[in-house]
Amino acid sequence: MLKDNVKAPSKQLEPISGKYGATILGPTNPSREAENPDVLVPPRTDSGTLPNLKWSFADSHMRLEEGGWARQTTVRELPSSPTLAGVNMRLNPGAIREMHWHKEAEWSFMLKGSARITIVDQEGRTFQDDIFEGDLWYFPAGIPHSIQALKDGCEFLLVFDDGNFSEDNTFLLTDWLAHTPREVIAKNFRQPESAFANIPKHELYIFPGHVPPPLAQDRVAGTGPAPLSYSYRLSAQKPLTMKGGTVKIIDSSLFPISTTIAAALVEIEPGAMRELHWHTNADEWQFYISGEARMTVFASEGKARTFNYQAGDVGSVPFPMSHYIENIGNTTLRFLEIFRSSYFADISLATWLKYTPHELVKAHLNIDESVLDAIPKQKTPIVAP
Ligand code: MN
Ligand code: MN
Repeated sequence: MLKDNVKAPSKQLEPISGKYGATILGPTNPSREAENPDVLVPPRTDSGTLPNLKWSFADSHMRLEEGGWARQTTVRELPSSPTLAGVNMRLNPGAIREMHWHKEAEWSFMLKGSARITIVDQEGRTFQDDIFEGDLWYFPAGIPHSIQALKDGCEFLLVFDDGNFSEDNTFLLTDWLAHTPREVIAKNFRQPESAFANIPKHELYIFPGHVPPPLAQDRVAGTGPAPLSYSYRLSAQKPLTMKGGTVKIIDSSLFPISTTIAAALVEIEPGAMRELHWHTNADEWQFYISGEARMTVFASEGKARTFNYQAGDVGSVPFPMSHYIENIGNTTLRFLEIFRSSYFADISLATWLKYTPHELVKAHLNIDESVLDAIPKQKTPIVAP
């Protein structure tokens, strides 16, 4: 008897494509193979050796703490992504991801629920805000911050602008003070040592807490307000809407503090696809929120490989390899494209061909003028069937 959330493979997939391939006689993992139909039976256009471009958070170590959990996909899990790392974190109502800082910048997307963030900058200026589903925050490198779940708890994705990041080596308030002589702490605050007798002896990292009061009551002014917002209401941004899906692009042009992370939130309807394109500025790191996808990445020298993705998976596209992402399921495909850059930039195959002298294009591809004429003048990053 399968649990509700485990998909029963409808039938055993075999690595057979026409006259190529043969059945599997040895050990097999049917549910895993069913998740990766285009890996088991690749398109005939796939060729050559590429690095692995897929990792599932389901394969990441889960760090369980009282009050929540965290798991990460870094360059250790996905070596093809040296520029970005991701953390998936869950906090129960009131639970706290403790006050800390780190050498990487942190970008976040709230997947479910809500949380309160707090920041103090190098001038003593403060920022506190409540973040809801579909909204973002960005903490620059070195800036101390905290995250506390509000009454319904929360789960979010964090993206760091270095693939070497580890959630286990951030600079924690409690870890620091546990490793500072008690008399030094006392001298620092001009207080007796007894005032610090109950400081934890080990880091807290994630720990239970009480749901904080409304933001207006919780605010601390500091030396003044932060000059830039550390949060962004992506849920309120109007998407670019086209036949087949929607796109929300968010970079430093709309969210100025986010100078090292640019992103697109993409929704693709069944059968439609994110068109053939590449990016001019950075590696792409993807997080799949819902649906089922297929992506082929072209790596030059005749090399191409196809991968499948579903909710909770991470995809990677090394700079400047070209690719498409197709919705192969029967529900909306929703995912994030993330780049270590201040801006979002892509070049589509269709636009490139449309604006190159057509005789030149036809000399390469032996296509009719009508194909080029049919390409819309406006960019349409999603193509409907
Ligand atoms: Mn952090
Ligand atoms: Mn892309």
